[in-house]
Amino acid sequence: MRETATIEVVLLRSMASPSQVKQYLAYWFQLGKRAIVRNGQKTLLPNPVIRGNAYSREFEACWQFLQSPESGDCYLEGTSQTIAQLLSSEWEIADCPRCEMPIPLRDIGLPSTSCPCSDLPGWPNRELPLPRLPVNTQRHLNEIRRRLLDEKQSIVRNGKLSTLRLGSPSTTNDR
Ligand SMILES: [Zn+2]
Repeated sequence: MRETATIEVVLLRSMASPSQVKQYLAYWFQLGKRAIVRNGQKTLLPNPVIRGNAYSREFEACWQFLQSPESGDCYLEGTSQTIAQLLSSEWEIADCPRCEMPIPLRDIGLPSTSCPCSDLPGWPNRELPLPRLPVNTQRHLNEIRRRLLDEKQSIVRNGKLSTLRLGSPSTTNDR
């Protein structure tokens, strides 16, 4: 009896939880990826995804609909895994190695063929604010701002370094 319980916990941990699938949709909706429902007859893109510190009512309604039988086979534009599949034990949500956005990963360890980012022009783009989850603290925003500033400064530093290295011989002789 005890052993069975332990095994169940392990299985539950290795699959995508509904909240992970919800986050996955929230992130991609913010980049303009739509949900395709009823075998492509209809597309959905709730906007905004976040309102204030929470998911928007539009997004919550869309998420409920995508889990309901009325939406039929539905999946994120650019992917082939249905929402129902993602909620099954065969899939989990992992980070894309290229852009760190959430992507479906086959639970047996094989990555899915592609991230929805593969046809997004100019992505990943570190200049733009990344899609986010609702958070309730100003501190989190400050951390993001600081991280972006750090990145900017390091780019400026690197830019100066390469200018020095590429400087003409006369400039170098002057010093
Ligand atoms: Zn990606």
